Amino acid sequence: MVIIVGTGAGGAIIAYELSKENIPVTIIEKGPYIDSKDAFNYYDKYSEDVDLLTTTCIGGATIVSMSNMVHALDEELHDYGIDITEEYGYVEELIGVHQLDDSHIGRGTQLFLDAGRELGLNTLKMPKAIREKDCIQCGKCAFGCPADAKWSGKDFVDMAVENGAELITEAEVYELIVEDSKIKGVKYIKDNAQESLLSDTVVLSAGAIGSTLILRTAGIDAGRELFFDPFVSVGGYIKDINFNTEVQMAGLVIGKNFVLSPHFSSFIKGNIDDEKVDDKDILSIMVKTADDAKGYVDDDGDVVKINTINDIRYLAEGVATAGFILEKAGVDPNTIGSTVYRGAHPGGTAPIGKLVDSNQETEIEGLFVSDASVLPISPGKPPILTILALSKRLADYLKNN
Ligand SMILES: Cc1cc2nc3c(=O)[nH]c(=O)nc-3n(C[C@H](O)[C@H](O)[C@H](O)COP(=O)(O)OP(=O)(O)OC[C@H]3O[C@@H](n4cnc5c(N)ncnc54)[C@H](O)[C@@H]3O)c2cc1C
Repeated sequence: MVIIVGTGAGGAIIAYELSKENIPVTIIEKGPYIDSKDAFNYYDKYSEDVDLLTTTCIGGATIVSMSNMVHALDEELHDYGIDITEEYGYVEELIGVHQLDDSHIGRGTQLFLDAGRELGLNTLKMPKAIREKDCIQCGKCAFGCPADAKWSGKDFVDMAVENGAELITEAEVYELIVEDSKIKGVKYIKDNAQESLLSDTVVLSAGAIGSTLILRTAGIDAGRELFFDPFVSVGGYIKDINFNTEVQMAGLVIGKNFVLSPHFSSFIKGNIDDEKVDDKDILSIMVKTADDAKGYVDDDGDVVKINTINDIRYLAEGVATAGFILEKAGVDPNTIGSTVYRGAHPGGTAPIGKLVDSNQETEIEGLFVSDASVLPISPGKPPILTILALSKRLADYLKNN
């Protein structure tokens, strides 16, 4: 039996892939099993010093994701002898990655795409795993999809359970059982009772913070080099654009040191000093960059983020470019405002080549990590597809060994 801890981008696909080969699987998930429309209630809280978005519920952060699906870190993974080209193809077909039909490209997104192209920027429609036939274009992707129109890890968990996998929810793994440098199982708390489950194969997919805390209980010094792909959203006024109801992040501009995507944020209005501006009238763009892995997880599980000159420089370049796009798109330049600096892609806490080998195994035999923790550097772009492809690769390795 294989124990999988966590049901986000990393854990869910491994559970599905193993269960469909009739390999016994037990999935342990800290959060509850919920409807995706309720996911916004399950965002985590960190200290006031860092604005980091993660969730604790079935599907992990995939359930609040925009379902943006791009390749990332191909060259960096090659350096560790990892080629996930085939796995990308497999996963993209499995979850239906495609650019949205024009019927699902809203007015603000189209203005973004047109302006990006006119400015000669590398501009395209975002590849997504969203089913247009179900999508009601409500703009609530990051709340948890009310129409269940986008892929999330929950889909794979449901399929795994149908295949016979056991799912234990609201159960927090708090310790690893290790003997002679071999994994023997995990300890977890459910309903205030301490339980243990034995297996000689354990996959940690508890996310960059969760896996860090579990690894440390076995003496593995994870979480010392954290990145989180920082972002801000900048936007301004276009009368009656109703951007808040569009499919979010359906366009993409790829710059050298940043990516840009049309993204509504209700936090911008508070920073625009103009009474005529209503939330729905703000066309805004997310600016996301790769950051240096100078953050860390402290002993209480809180995240400390340290910014380098490059982190700030790349963000400033991206914000300036977003400003040009907004102006070209028709935004009143006197109304442009921004959100605070945030992160939603924590990773790098148990990187390949340092804390796990190229098969994602730790120094403890039989203990694997498969989530954003293993990414060797910050991708600076949506990481789910890369995590899915790496996890599919690990599932195949486990099947064959
Ligand atoms: C609002 C938002 C939008 C995003 N949009 C996109 C997007 O469009 N495209 C993209 O590529 N990325 C997106 N991301 C980022 C992406 O969702 C994450 O990078 C990805 O889900 C990370 O996968 P993971 O497996 O590392 O962790 P997670 O998906 O966070 O999963 C970790 C799981 O482990 C569980 N867990 C934690 N600790 C324990 C424990 N001790 N015991 C048991 N279970 C535990 C958690 O409850 C959770 O279910 C977005 C993130 C956010 C917050």
